[in-house]
Amino acid sequence: MARYIFITGGVVSSLGKGLSSAALGALLQARGFSVRLRKLDPYLNVDPGTMSPFEHGEVFVTDDGAETDLDLGHYERFTGVAARNTDSVSSGRIYSTVLEKERRGDYLGKTIQVIPHVTNEIKDFISIGDDEVDFMLCEIGGTVGDIEALPFFEAIRQFSQDKPRGQCLFMHLTLIPYLAAAGELKTKPTQHSVKELRTIGIAPDVLVCRSEHPIPQKEREKIALFCNVRPENVIAAYDLKSIYEAPLAFHREGLDQAILDAFNIAPAPKPDLSRWEDVADRIFKPEGEVNIAIVGKYTRLEDAYKSINEALTHGGMANRVKVNVKWVDSEIFDTEDPAAHLEGFHAILVPGGFGERGTEGKIKAAQFAREHDVPYLGICLGMQMAVIEAARNVVGLKNAGSEEFDHESGDNRFEPVVYHLKEWIQGNHTYRRKVSDDKGGTMRLGAYTATLKEGSKVAEIYGTTTIEERHRHRYEVDIKYRDQLEEKGLIFSGMSPDGRLPEIVEWKDHPWFIGVQFHPELKSKPFAPHPLFADFVRAAIDTSRLV
Ligand code: GLN
Repeated sequence: MARYIFITGGVVSSLGKGLSSAALGALLQARGFSVRLRKLDPYLNVDPGTMSPFEHGEVFVTDDGAETDLDLGHYERFTGVAARNTDSVSSGRIYSTVLEKERRGDYLGKTIQVIPHVTNEIKDFISIGDDEVDFMLCEIGGTVGDIEALPFFEAIRQFSQDKPRGQCLFMHLTLIPYLAAAGELKTKPTQHSVKELRTIGIAPDVLVCRSEHPIPQKEREKIALFCNVRPENVIAAYDLKSIYEAPLAFHREGLDQAILDAFNIAPAPKPDLSRWEDVADRIFKPEGEVNIAIVGKYTRLEDAYKSINEALTHGGMANRVKVNVKWVDSEIFDTEDPAAHLEGFHAILVPGGFGERGTEGKIKAAQFAREHDVPYLGICLGMQMAVIEAARNVVGLKNAGSEEFDHESGDNRFEPVVYHLKEWIQGNHTYRRKVSDDKGGTMRLGAYTATLKEGSKVAEIYGTTTIEERHRHRYEVDIKYRDQLEEKGLIFSGMSPDGRLPEIVEWKDHPWFIGVQFHPELKSKPFAPHPLFADFVRAAIDTSRLV
């Protein structure tokens, strides 16, 4: 049976609970333990799939097709453990399950209440697969005191009571602000936040204190005394130059030791931190730099493209260069010449996206990259735009476009080179969809196999002809146009195993121009950079030598 670590947050949001949980997972692995991380979100959406990226950042997709919180991306990047559908849950999902059961009559006429029906549902969720790992880390989204999070706090309190003593531990993240006028660190908000937790029956064992200034021993002792934790369990978390320094920084602060001591695991296995030392070495000692433009729509919020940002950093690490990313709003190209904005970049990336706004600019970015031999990586919508660009400007289909834009506007303006997918196969399951279907969870989602063409650039980059990558889209490039496009040099170098769905296109006579229908960024790790990102950055380095 797994040991449980529940991670909560107090004082303010955005303290980095997800990262801290992920880094702790990595440290436990470094001590030889197996881990799984889980996120419990108090919001009422059934999943984040339908939320705007401005609301909640990127939607992270798992192999088994769940649309989850971006923290699951951190978990995967730090631990390498592929997240599952059962690693992310929201109040919305919990309530809808409870209500479904009520409608089915599963509760045999009982009155349905938050305690015990909702809390039981949460506890059942927490225990899924608990015989598979040594440690289950469960992060509760939001901040202690939030009304909607109460059932989750109550459920983890009950859960720790249900288990034998010593099986569960509570780690609480807080903020120790510095008051410049007084020249002092202030511990009162932390005291209040712990008091709030204790009111609902949870006594934290370990406090992780975010602070912009060193926390002196005296202050740690004060926090320990007032919050009823051991002084060595007051762990400082300072701002870091790179998130990938977090495992080493937490280890220096004694977090993993404090956790193992709290569980009475003695003697504690020695940690092997070589993976993280190598990662830090690559990040902090680059031997050059490249400039990459990301041409997209959600440029105002970098969290919207979290995994792409990270995958580019990993690609840089693979080549020992620093990647400088500049976000360029594609709508600028509606009125301005792309050359003025894109010249000087060593590579261009067009990421995924939804809706027509900004797409003409993305098409122009693809055209600029093709015509100027600039490395181009098009992801999902970025591939679709590259195909539309080729169809319009190389094949001569002037009206080439995507059905997505016609569906959105209700017009019929485009020749659908990219069309709405109504039926597809995964393994031995056939999916069927209508344009009028619900928006939530109805896309082609999760890991699908693709077969790569022998001798293609992508086959060389991957070093294999069978790959598996994660998808999240409703529209597809129509193979009807394949012959016309291939004749002009745009090769369909990756296809679904049944040969119906284009997965990858690449320009034959271009130094590096690849469009992929999937999201390779979701599988990249700092210690295992994704081959496409590693090679894209390598191509950018080549370009930088030319200019
Ligand atoms: N909007 C496009 C589709 O649904 C692309 C989606 C994406 O880029 N993730 O097919």
